[in-house]
Amino acid sequence: MEQLTVDKAVLSSDEQSVTGAAHPNSNPSSSYSFSRLPMADGKSDASLKDRLFNLAPPAFVAAVVLFWAYAPKSWVDSGWSIILASSLTTLIVLGLELVHERHSGWRMNKREFATDLFYVVLSSTVISWVTTTLAEDPLLAFKTSLGITTQWAMQLPFLVQVALVIFVIEFGQYWMHRLMHNSTPFWLTHAPHHHITQLNAAKGAVGNPIELFLISLSVVALFDLPLSAKFCAFNVLGVVSTFAHANVRADPPKFYSFFFTTIRHHSLHHSTDYESTRCNYANSLIVIDRVLGTYREGEAAIVGQDECRRLSILEQFMFPFQPLISRIRQMRSASAIH
Ligand SMILES: [Zn+2]
Ligand SMILES: [Zn+2]
Repeated sequence: MEQLTVDKAVLSSDEQSVTGAAHPNSNPSSSYSFSRLPMADGKSDASLKDRLFNLAPPAFVAAVVLFWAYAPKSWVDSGWSIILASSLTTLIVLGLELVHERHSGWRMNKREFATDLFYVVLSSTVISWVTTTLAEDPLLAFKTSLGITTQWAMQLPFLVQVALVIFVIEFGQYWMHRLMHNSTPFWLTHAPHHHITQLNAAKGAVGNPIELFLISLSVVALFDLPLSAKFCAFNVLGVVSTFAHANVRADPPKFYSFFFTTIRHHSLHHSTDYESTRCNYANSLIVIDRVLGTYREGEAAIVGQDECRRLSILEQFMFPFQPLISRIRQMRSASAIH
């Protein structure tokens, strides 16, 4: 396939190549990198709109932290508030895609919207219930039965509590995600997420249900922390990972992209060749990849696996069982011959 590679020399100093096989729906002239060619004086010609959008992810994170720090107690105590805040985050970022699109080939359509909506609802209902019932409640009961208390965590400043939850969740997810890219049984559950052929603000929720359960496992339940700090951390992680999948032309400044995952980092992780997917594992905290040596610079415009074969919801659900199904079919046809 034809490879689209932008010469590193013409990109601004902190940016590198955008790669990806030519996509029938893609419009390279509208892609992000071409709008950032430096002018004769060496300065980027990024418009005011570009600059404002580049600040959107950090501004959202700041707004979310302020919201949960000062939200009325009645809001914080309701489980609905985090569902509402997360849904609102996705809706707003989907709206931003309409205003400042990154790649026309990733543009939302009815089929993608229906799939994404199905998974957003699945994640916030069935997956959430299964995770609570099979993982978090037993972990909490285990902690209580052993008499473990982490009351010291309740005394920490709010921002430290939020940072603690973010780190605990992300560190666990990093290793689970890395395992999924290095072990075939785990890869079979994660591969459907890599078969998505376009990225948008809702795509973080799309994947095989087994993977969605595995990736949501964490040991946060072991820590005694106020609900507001937990919700704030969930919401911050939601904002970062939503922007990291979004079709928005927003490339945050270094003070953000050094620590938090951006669409550049995560689109590279969604590259069409399997080897290129084995980097940038952190869903939201890219600094973990930087420290553990799995960080890679770059960006992909074309995403997917198996030559960009799009999977239906049924195929996504059945994907981990395909080797088993194929083997049973082979055995049946072999026994029919004999
Ligand atoms: Zn992955
Ligand atoms: Zn992803």
